[in-house]
Amino acid sequence: MEEIKSMINKIGKSITKTSKDIIKNTKLTMQLSSQEEKLKNIYIEVGKKVYEIYSYGGNIGKYFDEKYEQMVDIEKEIANIKQMIEENKNVDKPSHYNNQQEIIDTRNNIPNISNVEECRICNSCGQKNNVNDKFCLKCGRTL
Ligand SMILES: [Zn+2]
Repeated sequence: MEEIKSMINKIGKSITKTSKDIIKNTKLTMQLSSQEEKLKNIYIEVGKKVYEIYSYGGNIGKYFDEKYEQMVDIEKEIANIKQMIEENKNVDKPSHYNNQQEIIDTRNNIPNISNVEECRICNSCGQKNNVNDKFCLKCGRTL
């Protein structure tokens, strides 16, 4: 009986030790990622400084010359994309609606509406007009 007790105790202690280690490691991992984050931010700051130096006309070596050119190109591309997004926002109706509207308008502008089944033929000139039209599309006389 005593043996079992001491065995359970041992297991208990080892579990406690393990979970303490896990907590310790979790803290260390958090510290690690926080330090890595700080380092990354400094990298970015340094990069921004280099960019600033170049944008004020300075230069600090061939390697950075190329990187600056790349950044300028990307900035232009970003500006382009932003403009396109703005232009799309300014369109009131969705594009498919506009297309549909165009098709209808074009059909109404065609004087010969032979593809419309219901039609009214002008007594004066023989032009086929829409059944709802009050005036002839071709000569303008009252239908
Ligand atoms: Zn007519």
